[in-house]
Amino acid sequence: MLAAMPPTSPTPVNRDEAPPRAAVRKSVRERGDACPGALRLHAADDGRLARLRLPAGLLTPRQAQALADAAERLGDGHLDLTSRGNVQLRGLGGSCGAELAERLHEAGLLPSETHERVRNIVASPLAGLDELPSADVQLWARELDGLLCASARAAALSGRFLFALDDGRGDVAALGADVTLLARRDGSVVVRTGANRSGPRVTPEDAPRAALLAAETFLTLAEASGSGAWRVRELPAEHGRGLEAAVRAGLADAGIATEYVAEAPGSGAGAEPGPGPGSGSEPGPEASKPDPEGEPPLPGPVPSPDGTVALSVHARLGRLTVAQWRLLATAANGPLRVTPWRGVIVPGVAPAAAGAVLDRLRTAGLITNPGSPWHGVGACTGRPGCAKALADVRSDAAAAVSRGSGGLPVHWSGCARRCGHPQGRWVDVVATGEGRYDISVQGDARPITTTGPEPEPELKPELELELADAVAAARTTPLTR
Ligand code: SF4
Repeated sequence: MLAAMPPTSPTPVNRDEAPPRAAVRKSVRERGDACPGALRLHAADDGRLARLRLPAGLLTPRQAQALADAAERLGDGHLDLTSRGNVQLRGLGGSCGAELAERLHEAGLLPSETHERVRNIVASPLAGLDELPSADVQLWARELDGLLCASARAAALSGRFLFALDDGRGDVAALGADVTLLARRDGSVVVRTGANRSGPRVTPEDAPRAALLAAETFLTLAEASGSGAWRVRELPAEHGRGLEAAVRAGLADAGIATEYVAEAPGSGAGAEPGPGPGSGSEPGPEASKPDPEGEPPLPGPVPSPDGTVALSVHARLGRLTVAQWRLLATAANGPLRVTPWRGVIVPGVAPAAAGAVLDRLRTAGLITNPGSPWHGVGACTGRPGCAKALADVRSDAAAAVSRGSGGLPVHWSGCARRCGHPQGRWVDVVATGEGRYDISVQGDARPITTTGPEPEPELKPELELELADAVAAARTTPLTR
């Protein structure tokens, strides 16, 4: 039974969100980072939870099968996709840690026990698989992962620290990462820290090393500040302001050139003018140019330059059964790419077979086209898996799905922490009690609240529909700024 409360103006306090600026004190973190990993299992209400980092979301079909086997044998038979393109196993038994670690080792999914939680790397999932010109961010991810795991210093990063490697389309650059590499059309790569839109430019060959150096520089400033900051945006202002300059200085000390020599004008389609060879001029600030605004991959077929088709599919509420997961692994001809939007890219499908494979995946319950009412709908774990949850949000979200589709992404949360909520504009449906929710639109300069039905002292069956309609209306709320 559902009911919507009158909307309020909830303050987003996702665990990955920074506290309001005014609330930042010298020490923003009083305790260590308890972020779960593949070895450090979290005790949830439905059993142990393991979070496996997948740099760039990459997973060979054999590794995917190994994960399905682990979920089936040790967990609850499901795999959850996270908002960072990682995978979680839930419902694990209290004594299965050693067997899980052994299985992951054997599959090549645990290259470093000391660094397993800091391998948080997202990358543009369609890079090289669609017609857009793109940088090889999957190569950067592999190189950065190797550098991270080889750096004793990097082991001190928080499990929440995020790298985003954007091939130039602007999709993962919008995810609010701590270090972002953004490929430019002139062939250079901008190294950004936190919300800075400016940053030094380096060559693609130096980009992974520059990203690691930026992260290590953050650690130095975080330690100097005594703040215990886990993320760049948590640095006290006086230290945060100095980060970009410190990164530039670190790059120079490491012999990484930050002066990029642009292609000669007219040497390539779409080439942007830049400082001429030998000009010696320092590139201007990136803030002078608008960011590319790439969209996350929509569900459906994507023609690839090599003549094959990549299939983009999404998981309902971010959760797959082992049977669905195995179907994806079987269909792929190359590494799967788990996306930060709770989808999977299946590469290398023969064009003649693509339609039939998509049909099979749709019949199995996966989202294969943007018109699906499940597209854009997310939910946290909620009850019964999370002790903090005030409602069974997954059941409530599923019950509301049939009442509308399209519009803004919507995320259902069991409490005000809003775990895994999307970036940008989104509809925030947050439980305030059993079957009671606040609904608002987040991500605007001014959050827009929607009109929901009045609370009822006794819940009525038709309120279920009223809540679903209120959510559907919020998803199509026009921008009023
Ligand atoms: S109820 Fe949901 S939002 Fe709240 S802590 Fe649990 S998983 Fe996170």
